[in-house]
Amino acid sequence: MQADIDRVLISRSQIADRVRELAERITADHSPPAMMDGEITIVPILTGAVIFCADLIRHMPLAMKIGLITVSSYPGTALRSQGAQLLGRQLGDIRGRHVLLVDDILDSGGTLRLVTPILRQLGPASVKTCVFLRKDRPAAREVHADYVGFDIPDQFVVGYGLDYDDYYRNLPEIVTLRPAAMGKSS
Ligand code: 5GP
Ligand code: MG
Repeated sequence: MQADIDRVLISRSQIADRVRELAERITADHSPPAMMDGEITIVPILTGAVIFCADLIRHMPLAMKIGLITVSSYPGTALRSQGAQLLGRQLGDIRGRHVLLVDDILDSGGTLRLVTPILRQLGPASVKTCVFLRKDRPAAREVHADYVGFDIPDQFVVGYGLDYDDYYRNLPEIVTLRPAAMGKSS
């Protein structure tokens, strides 16, 4: 796995520092006096957001529940979005609750555009979005995210939850892969 790495874009310590900062901001925004009532439900978008979400919420000393939603947009070895598709959800009752949707990366924006209205239909008090990464491309900037970890160049990255063909999610850094690792000749 290490031999497949081309370049490390974001190191473990950069990730740890930024995740803590985001968590502190989100906690402040969801505590009095900023927010007086209603509990929070955190909704990571599976599978990519699980690592980020697990790190994030351990720095958030708030009463919270966790809901799950599964969306696929880069099936298998795809390197561009094939269109976001809802595969499943297990949200619990989010009526009157403050929902924080958490995703690994904002790319074409298709995932957030698909999921946000689905959540809003269920009557939450509010819906905010948090993405670990946002790609530097016009489509990504057209979709609002309330909290963004890092802006990165428009490159295909893996690690810290992000996959290629479901591999590499356990890498602790954000990296690019060597072309040979993605089944192309370099
Ligand atoms: P969007 O729906 O905004 O196009 O993209 C969101 C989803 O596409 C992400 O949750 C992620 O699963 C996938 N994705 C987008 N860009 C990348 C990337 O650079 N690397 C990987 N591994 N997945 C990506
Ligand atoms: Mg995803």
